Amino acid sequence: MSTGVEVVTGIAELRRRCDAARASGGRVGLVPTMGALHAGHRSLVRAAAARDDLVVVSVFVNPIQFGPQEDLAAYPRDLAGDVRVASEAGAHVVFAPAVEEMYPGGPPRTTVHVAGLTARLCGAHRPGHFDGVTTVVTKLCAIVGACRAYFGRKDFQQLRVVEQLVADLNLPVEVVGRPLVREPDGLALSSRNAYLSVEERTAARVLSRALFDAAARLEEGVRDADELLGAVRRHLACEPAVRPEYVELVDVDRLEPLTAVDGSTPMVLALAAHVGRARLIDNLVVDWDAGRPRCDLGVRVGPSGELQRVAPGPAS
Ligand code: AMP
Repeated sequence: MSTGVEVVTGIAELRRRCDAARASGGRVGLVPTMGALHAGHRSLVRAAAARDDLVVVSVFVNPIQFGPQEDLAAYPRDLAGDVRVASEAGAHVVFAPAVEEMYPGGPPRTTVHVAGLTARLCGAHRPGHFDGVTTVVTKLCAIVGACRAYFGRKDFQQLRVVEQLVADLNLPVEVVGRPLVREPDGLALSSRNAYLSVEERTAARVLSRALFDAAARLEEGVRDADELLGAVRRHLACEPAVRPEYVELVDVDRLEPLTAVDGSTPMVLALAAHVGRARLIDNLVVDWDAGRPRCDLGVRVGPSGELQRVAPGPAS
């Protein structure tokens, strides 16, 4: 079967391909993933394919970003499926290194830590997670070289951390943030949704429903942070199968908690919850236009697979 995409497992070979593309005047796009590719990843690959000449999708379940009690062993792996999705979305190379290729001799002695931005939200609940992310992203950028790197706003904190990393270390990388992609019923797409039973999958809808409702409240003029957070927490409490980890309102720039909604500071309402054995995250990003909120809930997969902007309001 010809998929039109080349699977590369070696660092030297990937570097050679990227160098050759740039030497002939091409631009390189990098989409870092942990595989089990879905429509969220696909949208990143398509965005890269629309602008870049060599699109590299990395598929690497990065052991150093998982805690000892987390789901490293269970994390879904399907390289053949990933190659198909990446190819259909316009990728040229799938970089799928073995753990020994990325970390010969075990975990690296050099790691990268972004201070401040990693302290709260997911960082507070997953010690060492972001150091694992920033270390592997730095390695991928060092291997690929000058490129655009595409990240989803589903992992909003990760996107901000990577932006900071690239700025602080002067990496020759342009970070591109892309919309969060949702299932038709609102649930944010995640490789970890595969862990959900039918009942848990139904219960998990409450995460997005809570955020859609928060967006509607903002549109109606609610400006009290506690009122917003309280409403989200009450939604989550309605589902016994959902065990909230955090619900926070923070500013987009520093990811510091906001006590007041001032009508001008861009902010993100972020949450994480455990549903069965899946840990799920979701968020609502809010910008302001002359005191009016512009709520970004991302996009949802429509009936023919097209992506439709999600409007604030009660979830269907
Ligand atoms: P992962 O494979 O979960 O590590 O994610 C790889 C990239 O895909 C990250 O930049 C994620 O933010 C992005 N991504 C994952 N799920 C979604 C989604 N539902 N919408 C948009 N981007 C996503």
